[in-house]
Amino acid sequence: MSDERFLPYGRQTIEQDDIDAVVEVLRGDWLTTGPAIERFESALASAVGAEAAVAVANGTAALHAACYAAGVGPGDEVIVPAVSFLATANCARYLGAEPVFADVDAATGLVSCEDVERHVSEKTRAIIPVHLNGRPADMASLEKITASSGACLIEDAAHALGATIEGDRVGRCTGRSGMTMFSFHPVKQITTGEGGAVTVNDPDLLHRLRLFRNHGMVHDESALESTSPGPWYYEQQELGHNLRMTDMQAALGVSQLGKLQRFVARRRLLARRYDELLNPVAGIEPVIPSSAADGCAYHLYAVHVDFEALGIERAELMARLRERGIGTQVHFIPIPQQPYYARRGCRIEEYPGAVSYYERVLSLPLFPGMHDSDVERVVGALRELINP
Ligand SMILES: *Cc1c(COP(=O)(O)O)cnc(C)c1O
Repeated sequence: MSDERFLPYGRQTIEQDDIDAVVEVLRGDWLTTGPAIERFESALASAVGAEAAVAVANGTAALHAACYAAGVGPGDEVIVPAVSFLATANCARYLGAEPVFADVDAATGLVSCEDVERHVSEKTRAIIPVHLNGRPADMASLEKITASSGACLIEDAAHALGATIEGDRVGRCTGRSGMTMFSFHPVKQITTGEGGAVTVNDPDLLHRLRLFRNHGMVHDESALESTSPGPWYYEQQELGHNLRMTDMQAALGVSQLGKLQRFVARRRLLARRYDELLNPVAGIEPVIPSSAADGCAYHLYAVHVDFEALGIERAELMARLRERGIGTQVHFIPIPQQPYYARRGCRIEEYPGAVSYYERVLSLPLFPGMHDSDVERVVGALRELINP
């Protein structure tokens, strides 16, 4: 066993001012839907350059609300990549729609635009590309496909806060992108514990997101369907949920957002160091080559390992690394192979890109609190284990 500290594949960075920000809310008048929510929403909107942001309880709720706002309902189809976290597909099911999986590029794990195009039909209500590992999907091609389909383009940017596409910030919802969702789970770029948000420019989508977050309730007199009998009056106009974020979380979010540039810069530096040290290691390739690193937010440092050529199984390598105090993870198991989706008729054989990506992928430790020497330690351990 190693006596060095355990390195998880990802973790939050919480500093004293983050703690102070939360404590200040606890001493105040509002624990939920108070002034910290508004501060967080406007800070997030301006951080990504969007008109508005709607903060919700978690990233899954953000996807759910975005699909609702896009009008996704029973009988509709939502095109999602075969490699992502479960929530990217489940948001369609919550609304009675069916996710239609598009295969991914075996090298990058990003959705194949040709396969998205192949699956577009008159039932397609939304297309949700995922900026996997913090590397933006090919939005230019997806925008072209979306333009001719009439579907809503929703970016799953749970990995990509702080990323840019040709200098444009992810979340700005330029072009045909209608909404962008973020997650603030502790392993993501910034955290609120649990938390999520949707950024948006269109006022109608904004209204529907807010409605869905709060039971479908309307207070604002100008939006009521009947005349208000008095100041207590509210109307439920749609079926929404309680997806609200607390003020404690939002205050943490404001504090964390102020550190986003520093956190992302640190992630990029650590990724560069991994790239350099892994360059001469045969059988291990970074999923994001240094030549494509520009604008990537590096949520994960994923590598492709040629387990067969190296003569070691993935489970074995992960166990040996863990003995040395190094945590790794696999992102992600292709969603169509999950029993729930297999029972709904999905066949994993139809996704060779996803299978190939998944079979070789491994996420190495990457978080802003890591030292350069931690990267050396991880690569040193990998070299020892694959060249015994
Ligand atoms: C984390 C994540 C989500 C969901 O976020 P939660 O905040 O955990 O609900 C959605 N999509 C992707 C790709 C994720 O990694």
